[in-house]
Amino acid sequence: MEIESNFIKTIMEDDLQNQRVKKIITRFPPEPNAYLHIGHARAIVTNFELAKMFGGYTNLRFDDTNPVKEDSSFVDAIKEDIIWLGYSPKNILFGSDYFDQTYELAIKLIKKGLAYVCELSHEQISAFRGSLTEPGKESPYRNRSVEENLRLFTEMRDGVYKDGELTLRAKIDMASPNINMRDPIIYRIIHIRHHNTGDKWCIYPMYDFAHPIQDAIEGITHSLCSLEYVDHRVLYDWFVEKCEMPHIPHQYEFGRLNITNTIMSKRYLKQLVEAKVVRGYDDPRMPTLAGLRRRGYTPESIRNFILSTGLSRINSTVSSEMLETVLRDDLVGKTKRVNAILDPIKVVITNYDSGIEEFEVEYNQDNVNLGSRKLPFGKVVYIERSDFIEEKPNKHWKRLSLNVEVRLMHAYFIRCNEVIYNEDGSIQELHVTYDELTKSGSGFTDRKPNGNIHFVEASTALKATFNLFEPLMVDSDGDRDLMERLNPNSWNTVTGFVEPCVGSAKKGEKFQFIRNGYFSTDYDSTEGNLIFNRIVELKSSYK
Ligand code: ATP
Ligand code: MG
Repeated sequence: MEIESNFIKTIMEDDLQNQRVKKIITRFPPEPNAYLHIGHARAIVTNFELAKMFGGYTNLRFDDTNPVKEDSSFVDAIKEDIIWLGYSPKNILFGSDYFDQTYELAIKLIKKGLAYVCELSHEQISAFRGSLTEPGKESPYRNRSVEENLRLFTEMRDGVYKDGELTLRAKIDMASPNINMRDPIIYRIIHIRHHNTGDKWCIYPMYDFAHPIQDAIEGITHSLCSLEYVDHRVLYDWFVEKCEMPHIPHQYEFGRLNITNTIMSKRYLKQLVEAKVVRGYDDPRMPTLAGLRRRGYTPESIRNFILSTGLSRINSTVSSEMLETVLRDDLVGKTKRVNAILDPIKVVITNYDSGIEEFEVEYNQDNVNLGSRKLPFGKVVYIERSDFIEEKPNKHWKRLSLNVEVRLMHAYFIRCNEVIYNEDGSIQELHVTYDELTKSGSGFTDRKPNGNIHFVEASTALKATFNLFEPLMVDSDGDRDLMERLNPNSWNTVTGFVEPCVGSAKKGEKFQFIRNGYFSTDYDSTEGNLIFNRIVELKSSYK
């Protein structure tokens, strides 16, 4: 799939045609304070695909200007996710790489009379800022001399002051209708070790100041971000202009992607991890890229999903079914189709005494490249409990019942003659007879079976654990507290059997388990302890 026409692509085409830019250079700027989620994939795919389409490139730049929340474990996780999605950043950079330059530019603004050291507390600054309807009030420290500002700012850097005691603010316009222009803070004091620069700094630039400077230094032509930054664009341009950056980058905003019934906020995902209601950021129920990967989503499915949602200037909410549909479309031709029984009933074929027979069966009739395997058949097999009802309920029932004949897929017809019960009334096993004339491939057409059900042969079957998932949230009512919306049944584990060819499944290897859905081999799965995560059911209406 390729990126469709969209407003940013049009802008880029124009800019190249009118020679406003020579090459398209974009960046993806995550803050390394959590794992990436599928919403981020929109920003990643958009930046990388657009640059690639015009022969340009994309930098990965970690926005690590707030050491309080950032950590190098997140840096590694984010890199892994981007590479997994199939993208190679031209350069991997850190906002902190530019701390020296950012500091020098702050000095430049002070010298130009465009920045001042303020002694108001954060609360006072907020109160002075005014509102959408009222202008702000000027700080009493706004008109200090350049010399005094330089001295105080140097002292801030040298660690003379405590956190929050002083800030450096841009001197713009306290009456601006755009609140972002009302003397925003550009540097604050934080006495915390930074994951990259250690203890070198105790003052850190704010995102709004650092970001345009970083874009300018890297020669970014089109700085793409989501819609909430629209009102920051004037400030972005102001910093680029007043800092006299030789290269002038431009910011463009696109709508955020939301998915129904899916939490798309780092803050909430972090809350789930920290409260241990999930097993980590890569829990297969999480909408993080790491979680989706563990669940079994392919990078192609995520890229195709993002591309098929298009890109517009408004935030959009897409149904989670659409993601699942794109995923099935990707898996259908790629996966081996094999038999797994999640909820087994034992079936004894009373007239069969020929030991183990093997049927050569193609893995996927739509993709012969996947090859074939030997499917064992024998006297005792397992079938799905849901494939049997004592009494055939109606003519639509196309599975097994007492005195009804079905085909065991790729093997023989069997007829159920007797149900053996446990003391508690549950079914212990079925006694059936098979007809050797009905062997698969024999061309037998004398009668039609009442359906075609899958099975595994008992003595060769391998025990397996299947993790079945429901959405993490019971509803998408954003107003209720996250913890009250948790679905208590989001993780269900069952044990059953798989046919022997699945025994050597590699971690992350995906299968279509006939009728049961697509599954991915969990990272904790081993040959002796097979564990599969259900990625998605075969049809959305299956439930
Ligand atoms: P969150 O809102 O989940 O906390 P964030 O925007 O703070 O995420 P960043 O690390 O700053 O996280 O995001 C990096 C980039 O990804 C930003 O440019 C942001 O606009 C973009 N992005 C994040 N979420 C989405 C989304 N749902 N749709 C589109 N772009 C997104
Ligand atoms: Mg952000």
